[in-house]
Amino acid sequence: MPIYVALASLMFLGVIFGPQLWVRHVMKRHGVDRPDLPGTGAELARHLLDAAELTSVTVEQTDRGDHYDPDTRAVRLLPQHHDGRSITAVAIAAHEVAHAVQHAREEPGFMRRIEATRALIWIERIGSGVLVLAPVVFILVRSPAVVALQVCAGISLLAIEVIVHVTTLPVELDASFGKALPVLVRGRYLGSGDLPAASSVLKAAAYTYVAAALATLLNVMRWLRILRF
Ligand SMILES: [Zn+2]
Repeated sequence: MPIYVALASLMFLGVIFGPQLWVRHVMKRHGVDRPDLPGTGAELARHLLDAAELTSVTVEQTDRGDHYDPDTRAVRLLPQHHDGRSITAVAIAAHEVAHAVQHAREEPGFMRRIEATRALIWIERIGSGVLVLAPVVFILVRSPAVVALQVCAGISLLAIEVIVHVTTLPVELDASFGKALPVLVRGRYLGSGDLPAASSVLKAAAYTYVAAALATLLNVMRWLRILRF
């Protein structure tokens, strides 16, 4: 019996944490410097934005993960993707520019995603708040049932994050494979030998949010074990 429990736990960990490890592995594997590439991630992003007549969209460096910010209309890249000359840097830059294009065209899927992400900020805050307050409630009410209910509510709220990111996957896949990859091929920014690597980076980029949301759930569960719920 214990072997089944161990196998089930491993599978559970694999499902929850595997995607995050895979995303990091792919980004790192193709993140090696390639001096033969025509430009850095930031240079390519600027070039592609100008070509799409999105001159007002800025390209900035960030430490908070690569993303396109629809509020300030900015493409933000991690330092290694902003200044790096690698397949990962180039593919990520093209992916984030694709979001700027989705926004400029007011594509319905992207516009819905903006609303969903705004709602998620609140759902995440409330979910975390409910979980953080659980020990306090236990001290006050001394009812494990109430606390268990509260913890379930908190985890469910955080699980909504995973569901929302799964439902917005088509927008991410369109950014990667409907827009970024064809642009990289058409503009010959990468040689044909580099396209399989770029495709895997673009796939990882598309799944980044789902992977991160799943990993957040794991962190919550770890945290609950520490509190011995
Ligand atoms: Zn994206």
